[in-house]
Amino acid sequence: MKRIYNFSAGPSMLPVEVLSQAASEMLDYQGSGCSVMEMSHRSPVYDNIIKQAEADLRTLMEIPENYRVLFLQGGATTQFSAVPLNLMNKNKKADYIVSGMFSKKAADEAAKYGEVNILASSKDRNFAYVPYVDSFSPDADYVHICLNNTIYGTTYNYIPETGDIPLVADVSSCILSRPIDVTKFGMLYAGAQKNMGPSGLTVVIIREDLIGNAREGTPVMLDYKIQADNGSMYNTPPCYSIYVAGLVFKWLLNMGGLSVMEQRNVAKAKVLYDYLDSSEMFKATADKEFRSLMNACFVTGDAELDKEFVSAAKKAGFENLKGHRSVGGMRASIYNAMPAEGVDKLVEFMAEFERSKK
Ligand SMILES: *Cc1c(COP(=O)(O)O)cnc(C)c1O
Repeated sequence: MKRIYNFSAGPSMLPVEVLSQAASEMLDYQGSGCSVMEMSHRSPVYDNIIKQAEADLRTLMEIPENYRVLFLQGGATTQFSAVPLNLMNKNKKADYIVSGMFSKKAADEAAKYGEVNILASSKDRNFAYVPYVDSFSPDADYVHICLNNTIYGTTYNYIPETGDIPLVADVSSCILSRPIDVTKFGMLYAGAQKNMGPSGLTVVIIREDLIGNAREGTPVMLDYKIQADNGSMYNTPPCYSIYVAGLVFKWLLNMGGLSVMEQRNVAKAKVLYDYLDSSEMFKATADKEFRSLMNACFVTGDAELDKEFVSAAKKAGFENLKGHRSVGGMRASIYNAMPAEGVDKLVEFMAEFERSKK
């Protein structure tokens, strides 16, 4: 069996232990005589799966009692609409910080429902940094940020202090990579396919008092109150994706939790960034103080050479290193499931490639 080092931004690698367990339980989940894919989401056995997944996520992230956890569908992109539909409900105004493509998309979507105030944008330098913002519209219904910018490889090095205004964050590409103080946020949301499990599942973590104020006309599937009141089972949930995410949560607990993952991720990213800082050929594109632990973007400065590198790397078993079309160059996504060995070997390969060009 061959396993590549998959540096894709998402869907991305899953821990081998998780895949093996899912495989071993594929035909007969714990004596039920069927696969998790085949069982009723209303069965006691599935009820146990979803409840355990939520309990383990709560333990991992230290989610307080007054927050609800929702297992939804539609990806993070659906939350770009659900957030304003549910939360832009008092003054019909919201503040957005634009630090990359996804936060821009979120702001554009919200503007369909009310007044969106773009507090700051880092577009002037192709999103190589995250703007610092410490002043907010007093009448904003919420402030929205994207905590880790998957495409540009940048991350917040501070949490905006929004006072009484709920802070909403898209954490699709950094959830579970390190501890996050949930109490600083009114709501967090993330598509699963970066750092949690298969696509098809979107996790929403929301403070209870923010639920129940959806505007009239909100589609039933996007109404947090309906989803919360029905335990994420107003309709059929993404059963299998929730099951695999649950296995990932158990894997993380067994690894020692999010502080341990943070140490591992810092060490992994350091190997790559240290090399990039010493290389004459490759250069990191993000400003140092905003470098992401999860997505590292780099270029040679020569588009042809970038292409040659990506294809040579692919031949050597390092896949999906091509950067997003809006940045060009390369991007190595090194989520929780990427072993340290994968980064070590990639750096060895890069150094060899660099030497071969001298
Ligand atoms: C991938 C990603 C998205 C889009 O996610 P979908 O689940 O495909 O809708 C949104 N925001 C961030 C930060 C992402 O990394």
